[in-house]
Amino acid sequence: MNILKIDHLGIAVKSIENGKNFWSDVLGMEFAGTETVAAQKVTTAFLPVGESEVELLESTADDGPVAKYIAKKGEGIQHVAFRVENIEDALEELKAKGIRLIDETPRQGAGGARIAFLHPKATSGVLVELCQRD
Ligand code: ZN
Repeated sequence: MNILKIDHLGIAVKSIENGKNFWSDVLGMEFAGTETVAAQKVTTAFLPVGESEVELLESTADDGPVAKYIAKKGEGIQHVAFRVENIEDALEELKAKGIRLIDETPRQGAGGARIAFLHPKATSGVLVELCQRD
C-alpha cells in the first residue's frame, strides 16, 4: 500500500472549547471550526500544522467511542491517521495479511474523507486510521 503521510493525530478531549486553547492560543495553530459526525457521536475540530493536522475529538454522547476512550484512559492521543492513495486497496492488502480491522470497508469521516480503523490488537496498541482524501 502507498502511505503518503501522517494525515492527522486524533486527540480525545472532554471539551473542544477548552481543549483547543493550548493548540490555538498557546501554539498559535489555526482553529478552522468544528464538524459533527453523527454516526460516530463525535464533534471534531481540525487544526492544520504543516502537511498534517491535529484533530480534536469531543464526544456528543456518553456511549460514543471517544467518551468510552476518555472514561478508560483519560484525555490524550486517541489515534494516528495515515493518508493512503487508495483505501480499498489498503484494506484488501491488510485483510490478505491477516490484520484485524475495525472497519472492513471505508466509511465517511470528517472533512469528506473516507476512513477505516485498524484494530489496536493488531498494531501494538495504537488505534490506526487510514484515510483517503480525493
Ligand atoms: Zn481521525
